[in-house]
Amino acid sequence: MKSLLSLVAALAVAVAPAASSVAATPKVCAECVRANMAHLASAEMRGRSCGTADENAAARFVADQLKAARARGAGEGGAYLQPVEFRLPTYAAPPTLEVGGQRMVQGGEILTLEPAPLAEGPLVVVGLADPAAAAGRVAVYDAPYDPKAVDTFFRAGAVAVIVPAPESVVKLWVQLAERGPGGVEVMGAETPGARPPPRTVVFARPETMVALHGLEGQAARVAAPRGAPGVRTTYNVLGVIHGTAPDADTQAVLLTAHYDHVGVRGGVVYPGANDDASGTAAVLEFARILGAGKAPKRTVQFALFGCEEEGGHGAKYFLAHPSTPLTDLVANLEFEMIGVPDPADRKALMLTGWERSTLGPALKAHGASIHPDAYPQENFFQRSDNYQLARKGVVAQTISAWPIPPTYHQPSDDLAHVDLPFMAEVVQSLVGPIGWLLNSDFRPEWNPGMKP
Ligand SMILES: [Zn+2]
Repeated sequence: MKSLLSLVAALAVAVAPAASSVAATPKVCAECVRANMAHLASAEMRGRSCGTADENAAARFVADQLKAARARGAGEGGAYLQPVEFRLPTYAAPPTLEVGGQRMVQGGEILTLEPAPLAEGPLVVVGLADPAAAAGRVAVYDAPYDPKAVDTFFRAGAVAVIVPAPESVVKLWVQLAERGPGGVEVMGAETPGARPPPRTVVFARPETMVALHGLEGQAARVAAPRGAPGVRTTYNVLGVIHGTAPDADTQAVLLTAHYDHVGVRGGVVYPGANDDASGTAAVLEFARILGAGKAPKRTVQFALFGCEEEGGHGAKYFLAHPSTPLTDLVANLEFEMIGVPDPADRKALMLTGWERSTLGPALKAHGASIHPDAYPQENFFQRSDNYQLARKGVVAQTISAWPIPPTYHQPSDDLAHVDLPFMAEVVQSLVGPIGWLLNSDFRPEWNPGMKP
């Protein structure tokens, strides 16, 4: 039997935090969340495409909200906007495949996504039984597209690999043909020459594949000449609320989301309400609540990234130029697509990489409506901006609702398809736990062997 004293003590422990947190937990302003999302996903924002005037206008709007929330600017000299310049390679002319007097053109018979400027050699039809036959040649591999097989031929020394276009590529044929050659360079964020040289993979239509068999042995040439690169600017929006502890800044918590989306395609605006105006609105709401209340013990940093959709340019730059040294971050929570509940669980959010660290269980124990990632096979932990920070050692994880809603990257990703009451509820469930994290000494850790 327990002593009376320990029983009383146990009751006090059990009751006290719950009582005080109930009384002290600030309320989410559902209307603020809705209004911020509505503005970001509005027609005038035109889908906030990476590096456009629309995206830049969205950045200024987000900065204004952080300022109104009484967060300070955390960029250089106290600025809210951190400019990120990047170079976008272009084609001087559409890529072509020339072989045996025939000329096939990008968007017509062929499609190549990130080719080298020039690849030439004799055309050879190859199979996995003898990959070495591809060495120094333009290899035709006439089997259903398999990146691993394609990789085998490049390892064997192929200069280019031609494969039948898979259904997923055929569907987006025209859209993909309008794209540049890839290989964006984020200025000031990468070591030049650090990336591997481009590989020329050419997707061909079925009738083109048939024609290529008849041209084996002929000289083949895939040309993708480059034009002058386009220079664009995106912005990260950075804010900070300094904590009250003497060492507050060296145990900061970073809250992040991305505010860009995919823009206008074929004259149709893709509003990106769920992806990721929802995450941005959540981070802004946490800023509003934290700015309105008593400052927490720990410092909280806010970063809203630009150009996530085009390869995470904003996050890449932030890693090279963080608003606080990465070693001063105890945790990063990324908010990505939290507006459409998963039909499998309409009450909660998921935390990617749940089993990797002690963060998720601790937040859940303090009332967060979060649970483990229900789609580990999709590798969502690796697919958001959090991963770049996690690779640097920061316990960085993403909170999402339904990661694969039917509105994903569709014009229907608008406010009408976001479940606002659900969002208000799950964001509310995080206010207390985030407040707890900011006022505790708890340091989340990677579980043994789980650090990426
Ligand atoms: Zn997206």
